[in-house]
Formats: sequence, structure tokens, C-alpha cells
Amino acid sequence: MPRTLITGGAGFLGSHLCDRFVAEGHDVVCVDNLVTGNPDNVAHLVGHPRFEFVRHDVSTFVYVAGDVDHVLHFASPASPIDYLRLPIQTLKVGSLGTHNALGLAKAKGARFLLASTSEVYGDPQVHPQPESYWGHVNPVGSRGVYDEAKRFAEAMTMAYHRSHGVDTRIVRIFNTYGPRMRLDDGRALPAFMGQALRGEPITVFGDGSQTRSFQYVDDLVEGVWRLLHSGGPSASDPVNVGNPDEVTIKEFAEEVVALTGSSSSITYEPLPSDDPKVRQPDVTRAREVLGWAPTVDRAEGLRRTLDYFRKRVPEFHDRISE
Ligand code: NAD
Ligand code: UDP
Repeated sequence: MPRTLITGGAGFLGSHLCDRFVAEGHDVVCVDNLVTGNPDNVAHLVGHPRFEFVRHDVSTFVYVAGDVDHVLHFASPASPIDYLRLPIQTLKVGSLGTHNALGLAKAKGARFLLASTSEVYGDPQVHPQPESYWGHVNPVGSRGVYDEAKRFAEAMTMAYHRSHGVDTRIVRIFNTYGPRMRLDDGRALPAFMGQALRGEPITVFGDGSQTRSFQYVDDLVEGVWRLLHSGGPSASDPVNVGNPDEVTIKEFAEEVVALTGSSSSITYEPLPSDDPKVRQPDVTRAREVLGWAPTVDRAEGLRRTLDYFRKRVPEFHDRISE
């Protein structure tokens, strides 16, 4: 059976990938230092004969004994409040961590897949964003630590592909949500759901006219699976994976309030610096090359995510059990 090493495997996306790869029969090695992840995300896999957890910082060195067929590099703080709190760790895991993960893939003859991001497009001036767009990033702004780390990671991945012949894949992930996001990670969805379930005001930043295109986690996992197993001469080129259904943040907040049946009102707070005004993936390439398309719409994805968060908001729990 193939053996797959997933860095960041105890995080939100990484843990769903661990589930998928174990279910597909792979041996999975999950490497995570738990800086933003949570062991509860993979607790159900501990003890599984094909699952191994290694607590380790991949910015220092990555090595495992034995064969490795795939390296999926997902380790990185990913939410704005996490990477603003951990700016240097974010730059290190995107640069040194990517270098180490690529070195492991080279040593093992493994296929390498990088979790990149729509943030490589920055505050985009082309809309929607195709992979051919080079982006509009402020390297010295607060978000630069994340955006530039991922841009460097892409460049390093292509260098290992071109110079060392490593078989590489790059997925540019657009805003993804679902169960196992941390309630306090500050991203729009957990923030709004937590606030709605507690009956607190919903904090919309700016006037809420900025847009995002939210993808449910199962669609992302399917896209990563297909990309990893894709082939052909341009297989190493980046591929956007995201749901093109674009929504303003104000409308998104209203959808969450309506779904939860909350009486929360919306309050407006200052927009963080360099917050992208629009974001929508052009997924032509994913459709053509991977035969991939999103299958879970926002109404369904939000319902599934609410089931998860309901059990994790103590105030809400207390209220319904009174
Ligand atoms: P997450 O914070 O839940 O997961 C990241 C995981 O990486 C955590 O478990 C964390 O402990 C681990 N980690 C961080 N630095 C590490 C290090 N030096 N060594 C070992 N482990 C380390 O975030 P997520 O949303 O699951 O994001 C996972 C990946 O996907 C990230 O690379 C992120 O940039 C990328 N991504 C996510 C999204 C999204 O919408 N969720 C969008 C674009 C890209
Ligand atoms: N946002 C918001 N209120 C919050 C958290 C986020 O209005 O409590 C906004 C944020 O400014 C951004 C959008 O929602 O415009 C998406 O933010 P998120 O952190 O989820 O992702 P990213 O900015 O990385 O796309």
C-alpha cells in the first residue's frame, strides 16, 4: 500500500486528508507540531494500524524511516490571526519547512504536493483569478508573512521539480470551511457561527462589501486527491481548487444568522490592512485537467458545519440543555 506523509496533518484540512488517505488504504504518517492544530482532530485515528502521529516542527528537519510514496505539505498557520501572531514561524514553515519537505520527497523518490493558497494573488486586480495571474501582494504588509511564504514555497517547489526532477503538484486553495475549524481561529466562518450561537453581535470588518468564495472541505479533499493522482506534461503547474460561488461578507454573515436562528445583530469593525476586496477562483483548469467540480453548495456546507459547532459552543449548549 502507498505510504503518505502529511505535514500539518493534525490541523483542519490535514486531518480530513488523513481520514481520506487512511480510508483509501494508504499508510499515513501525520507530522505536526500542534502550533495551531489540535490532537483531537486525529484522536479517532490513533491506534489505527495504518496511522502514525509524529509531533515535530518541520521547519527544523523532516525524516522518517522506510519508504514514502507521497509527501503532502500542509503545515502552516493559515488563519490571519494565527499568522499575525506567528509571523516568523509562518515564514519559516513556508520556506525552511517546504525545503525540508521537498528534501524528504527527493530522498525517498516521493511525489510532493504543496498546499498553496489564493493569497498568492494578494488583493487581486484580475477577477476571477486564473492560475496565470501573477498576483498583487504587498510584501511588507502584515499579511505578507503568509503570502510571501507561500509564493516562496511555490518557487522552491518548481525549482525542485526543474532542477532535481522531483514529481511535484501545487494546489492553490481558496477559502475552505467545515468541521474541525477552531472556533477561535478568527476566520469569518467560525467567528460568525460562534457569535451567532452565543447571541453576540456578528463582527463584520469594513462595510462587508468585500467578497470571498467559500468551499466546503469535502470538495477540497477530493480536489487534492485527484491532483495528487493526476499526470501529464503540465501536472506540476498550479491548480486552483475552490468554489466559484462568490458572496459578500455581509451577505455571508446574514446567511449564518438566518441558519442558526440567532437574534444577533451585525456590528461593523475596522477592515484589517491589505484585506483583499474580492476573491473568486477560475476553476477551468481543475475542471479540464482533474474533471473536478465542487459538489457541496454553501447552504448544505453551512448546515453540516453548524452541526459541528453547535456541540462546541458552551453557552449554546447550556442554553439548550436548561
Ligand atoms: P490549520 O492551522 O488548521 O492547520 C495547519 C497545521 O499545520 C496545524 O495542525 C499546525 O499545528 C501545523 N503546523 C504549523 N506549523 C508547523 C510546523 N512548523 N511543523 C509542523 N506542523 C506545523 O490550518 P488549515 O486551514 O488546515 O490549513 C492547512 C494548510 O492549507 C496550510 O498550509 C494553509 O496555508 C493551506 N490553506 C488553507 C486554506 C483554508 O481555507 N483552510 C486556504 C488556503 C490554503
Ligand atoms: N471577517 C469579518 N469578520 C470576522 C472575520 C473575518 O468580517 O470576524 C472578514 C475578513 O476581513 C475578510 C473575510 O471576512 O474580508 C474573510 O476572512 P477570513 O479570515 O475568513 O479569510 P481571508 O481573509 O484569509 O480570506
